[in-house]
Amino acid sequence: MAEVKIACPKCNWEPTPSDQWSCTCGHSWHTFDTAGRCPACGKQWEETQCFEPAVGGCGRMSPHLDWYRNLDGWLLEEIKRIRIRVLEKAD
Ligand SMILES: [Zn+2]
Ligand SMILES: [Zn+2]
Repeated sequence: MAEVKIACPKCNWEPTPSDQWSCTCGHSWHTFDTAGRCPACGKQWEETQCFEPAVGGCGRMSPHLDWYRNLDGWLLEEIKRIRIRVLEKAD
């Protein structure tokens, strides 16, 4: 089975598990844990921003799913399930 890698589709910057994204509600979390949904307010981020050039990224927005490499059909289903689970938890 191909290993799934997460990297910026524009510059190939790879986030580490300790990297955090900020939501407009002020919450910070690792966006790939929740497939782009803020666990605090439930906002679904269809696009994910790369980190700033100062830390090796390009700072540009890309569709969240484009960040996953070698994405098989089963994993796409898995991500959709994660989104539903997070949504249920937010309610
Ligand atoms: Zn939020
Ligand atoms: Zn980038």
